Amino acid sequence: MAGEWECNVCKKTYSCRKNLNTHMHAHAEEPQFECEICLRRFTFQTNLYEHKSVHTGKMFACPFRNCTKTCRLKGNLKKHMKVHCKSVRKLDEEYKNFTMSLKEKKKQRKQKRQQKRKQLSEAVENHLEIDKPDNLPENDDAHEPRTDNVREEDSPSTSNNQATANEPDHEDLGPSRKRERKDQSQPQDETVAKKPSSSGDNNDSPSGSEALEHSPSTSSNQKIVGKPQPEQDLGPERKRGRMDDSKPKEETIADKPSTSSQSGDSCEAPSDLGSNLSCCGLERLLRYSIPVRHCKENDTCRILKGDEYMCRKSKPEADNICLDCFARANVKNQNLWMKKVNLNEKVEETVDCLECGESSHKVCVFHFKETPFVCGNCSGEPGFKKIIETDTSCEIDAFLAEKANNQLEDKNAKISVASYTTAKSTTTKELMPVLYLKDAKKKYGSKIDYVARAIYFFQIVDNISIAFFGLFTQEYQDLGGKSWCVIDYLDSVPWMKVSSKSPSKIYLELILAYFEYMGLKGFKNGHLWANPPVKGVDYIFNIHPETQRYLDKVQLIGWYHKILQQGERARVLAGYRNFEEEFKKGEIKHPIDLPVFVDSLWCKILKWVNDELKTDEFDDEHFKEKLEDEYKERAEDNFFFELRGSQLQQPTPLQSKEFNPHKILGDRETFLDKCFVENWEFSSLRRAKYSSVGIIKLIEGAREERDANGSMED
Ligand SMILES: [Zn+2]
Ligand SMILES: [Zn+2]
Ligand SMILES: [Zn+2]
Ligand SMILES: [Zn+2]
Ligand SMILES: [Zn+2]
Ligand SMILES: [Zn+2]
Repeated sequence: MAGEWECNVCKKTYSCRKNLNTHMHAHAEEPQFECEICLRRFTFQTNLYEHKSVHTGKMFACPFRNCTKTCRLKGNLKKHMKVHCKSVRKLDEEYKNFTMSLKEKKKQRKQKRQQKRKQLSEAVENHLEIDKPDNLPENDDAHEPRTDNVREEDSPSTSNNQATANEPDHEDLGPSRKRERKDQSQPQDETVAKKPSSSGDNNDSPSGSEALEHSPSTSSNQKIVGKPQPEQDLGPERKRGRMDDSKPKEETIADKPSTSSQSGDSCEAPSDLGSNLSCCGLERLLRYSIPVRHCKENDTCRILKGDEYMCRKSKPEADNICLDCFARANVKNQNLWMKKVNLNEKVEETVDCLECGESSHKVCVFHFKETPFVCGNCSGEPGFKKIIETDTSCEIDAFLAEKANNQLEDKNAKISVASYTTAKSTTTKELMPVLYLKDAKKKYGSKIDYVARAIYFFQIVDNISIAFFGLFTQEYQDLGGKSWCVIDYLDSVPWMKVSSKSPSKIYLELILAYFEYMGLKGFKNGHLWANPPVKGVDYIFNIHPETQRYLDKVQLIGWYHKILQQGERARVLAGYRNFEEEFKKGEIKHPIDLPVFVDSLWCKILKWVNDELKTDEFDDEHFKEKLEDEYKERAEDNFFFELRGSQLQQPTPLQSKEFNPHKILGDRETFLDKCFVENWEFSSLRRAKYSSVGIIKLIEGAREERDANGSMED
């Protein structure tokens, strides 16, 4: 029924005067500039321009070689560039070069467009048939972002960039697009562009074809290869100081190939050394993959395959520094350092059958220890089998496994879960800037307790439970009176077998299952940060396949929206907001109100802002001013939400038997180091199987130990 009180602006009617008055507030301060993609409104047009980069994925990439830093806002990139420059003059010079190159690119694009237009009109005039330009977006989806009215300076990348960014299901870009992608400014493409040239196409390498062979079907393999691969960034403190990996027994391999015989960067590329083995038909000498290393001096620096870097002569794996940073840093005792090339000299080991003498790759026959080996032909035993069951006495594992298996059509491809729970503690001083330490201590106390969880998901493929997905989480029982759970890292490898659903659909359900469980346990708040992965950098699983596709920032934000919307529909969570919306709620009045989880987004930002302040700026006013810039930069890439499912006022504290710390499996970095040292790679299905068996042996060892201790206590 139409009411009698009509709004003179939008003509909406109300039956009650009071409601109209309330409604009029909406018109009073309505920002005028609307984003035609998400309908968000802005008071100033410049804010709208900045905002649009969220949809178009337009980012400014740091122009320094090997640096992976990207920013949405040019001003913030300039601030970052300070880490590369010794003086203000140098910074100004570099920044000027950078903006000049943007203008140059803009000019080139304009010329290209004009040329194309000219060609087109000529073609029309001559009534010639010409092909549709390949950089024209093919779908006219209404949701597709348009860039025609985005400021040109804001678009360092080509229009192809956004076309590909909006095709999450588009697996393989045509040759013309592949070429274009190298010009993109996103870090993952930078990596591709800078990669030493390969001797052949990836799909021709044994590992590539093997992936196809072992996948259930071509179509689902396509999905597996192209599935989302969301992960979180390694923070400055999280760089890997790798353990010493010089295993003497590998050095004794007589016919170890020399560096020069390295053929491209394909880990199992054919070499003419040694004959093929009957276990897999591949060469005897299969080279392991080359890791992307972190530069110790700068958390955005990467040492890529084939790059030179510096390391300590005594501990070559501990501190790696890129040549640029090494030149800039005033390293004392330079003679203690040596130059190395980032290659992996290690090849797969083989083992000979005691009876027939035939050699097999240890990876192929799942041989781990230096024990006598009899091949399958001689022993007549059936093929290798290794399955890890979910320990149903562990409540969260049982819960997650049930949720996961409900998603599967093929009940033989069962999913199992193993998790490790550790009690942790940090100081407020560690997390909060000195400037606000007093206030922070009042709010949080001087010590902050939390629970760290490592959750591994396995699926049975060819009689072996293969690790395919991992979650590292943090849970805060009481952080200034609120309970929080946070996904710290997540990572996947494309070896999951699904028939009709896409793997990302399963990952989505696994993430929601985690939040559902925590909600049932009485946790009230959740936080997610969309921090896109960098190709070649490992977060949980050691060495991903070359063919694995990564989501860029825009795709990752989109995927998180999807997860959170699904979570709302399933009534697992409620009222999710991005940072901007959370900020508008008015609960973040002061820097200490930011949710600081160990090594998470806001914790890092507070540290960065703190470190950026000069001595004469070290006050509240300057701190907040710099923090404001970060608020803009981070407006849409991190999310807040409430967890449902429990009437409990507070989470139930974990009982002591619910803790099961594990010194390798419970710690992400130690786990990565262990896999690196053991060459447990996930680069191919073949190696993923072997690596998973290695991990399962660790899990079984821990269970045996626990059972033994348990029976002693009884
Ligand atoms: Zn109105
Ligand atoms: Zn928008
Ligand atoms: Zn940089
Ligand atoms: Zn083999
Ligand atoms: Zn560096
Ligand atoms: Zn034999």
